[in-house]
Amino acid sequence: MVTNFRPHPKPPPAPWRYRGSRLESPPRCTLTWSRIRRPAVPELHEAGSTRHQSQGMFFSVCYDSVSLHESERSMTARILDGLKIRDEIFAELKDEVRLLAAAGVRPGLAAVLVGENPASQLYVKSKIAACEQLGLSSGLLTPPESATTRELLAVVDDLNHDNNVDGILVQLPLPPQVDTKRILEAVDPSKDVDGFHPVNLGRLASGRPGLVACTPAGCMEILRRGNVPMEGANAVVLGRSDIVGKPLALLLMHANATVTICHSKTRDLPEVVRRGDIVVAAMGKPAFVEADWIKPGAAVIDVGTNTIKDPTEAERLLRNFPARLEKFRAKGSVLVGDVHPAAVNTAGALTPVPGGVGPMTITMLMSNTVKAARLRRASPAVSTSQSTASAR
Ligand code: NAP
Repeated sequence: MVTNFRPHPKPPPAPWRYRGSRLESPPRCTLTWSRIRRPAVPELHEAGSTRHQSQGMFFSVCYDSVSLHESERSMTARILDGLKIRDEIFAELKDEVRLLAAAGVRPGLAAVLVGENPASQLYVKSKIAACEQLGLSSGLLTPPESATTRELLAVVDDLNHDNNVDGILVQLPLPPQVDTKRILEAVDPSKDVDGFHPVNLGRLASGRPGLVACTPAGCMEILRRGNVPMEGANAVVLGRSDIVGKPLALLLMHANATVTICHSKTRDLPEVVRRGDIVVAAMGKPAFVEADWIKPGAAVIDVGTNTIKDPTEAERLLRNFPARLEKFRAKGSVLVGDVHPAAVNTAGALTPVPGGVGPMTITMLMSNTVKAARLRRASPAVSTSQSTASAR
């Protein structure tokens, strides 16, 4: 019995070691290569050929001897590599920063980091490092944990009036005494590089150009640059937060996908997910989306970043991924997405966690800062030579 028999235009890449499959009868079409999954073909260990019948057709399958691990043998998804896409976009942004510099403009990002939250400090540090890498100027303001809403409004106001600042980043979460919405709404929308301001959300909803939230914008870059067809595709977005699910659903709709938005009250979630040609998971629930919810061949964008520290949980999720399990044992924690790691066996393309959506968030922050500088300060001549990412 052969499952997942799909015509393939060329030999599939490693770790497959099949030499080929040949249709014997009836000769309705020519199928030269296919992917056949363990444990459906248990004799895979040995070189040779076997004869199979599927859907009334007979065909023979030739394969080489393999000594790959079970998980590697059954891996089918094309990896949508966020690190590679980040490098591509950074190269484009560097060109654009050079052009802006020639026109006397150096894009600048100001980060407001309130208090001493270690995770926030780490995020801001990475963002400033990215600015340095691209030749952007950056500034860090560090009001104390005790800062009031009024004090922070004054900080934001100063930055709004500083012409060298193109992007204002208020690192969240803010301390409980601060009215976060008021602070975010005080940011000049033309400097709102996080894309959280209601004006920018409104522009996105109405299909007007503006600054788009970084994580959803990064997911779209992955889909575009990963050549995932969006027009007419059924896209299922799991999560409806203002910073990920909602803007992403709008972006997918503008890309002509047919979008379904799911949330905690959605009924029969597995069935809804099974209809998705594109599935985006942004729930914050480790490995919640099971592999068999994913339609075979679907593209999966896993936004979730969940740290697992419980050894039993890690063993359960990663039992077929010995290398990752080894890393967990060495480090005591592992990052998993909202989609079960075994979805790599059903999806056609998938973002890994880590290394998928994660690197794209800072990348799009840089892209938004360059875009904000171009829109606010550059002459039309510079505006025509923009990078593809920051042009959007
Ligand atoms: P959030 O604000 O907590 O929103 C979670 C969403 O998931 C909500 O809309 C919620 O529905 C929905 N949800 C929760 N349980 C569900 C269930 N059982 N079935 C269906 N939907 C369910 O989270 P977020 O800020 O959007 O972030 C989501 C995940 O993405 C988190 O893991 C976060 O760490 C990660 N993230 C990663 C990046 C990155 O750079 N990689 C950036 C941002 C976020 P309700 O609305 O009904 O409550």
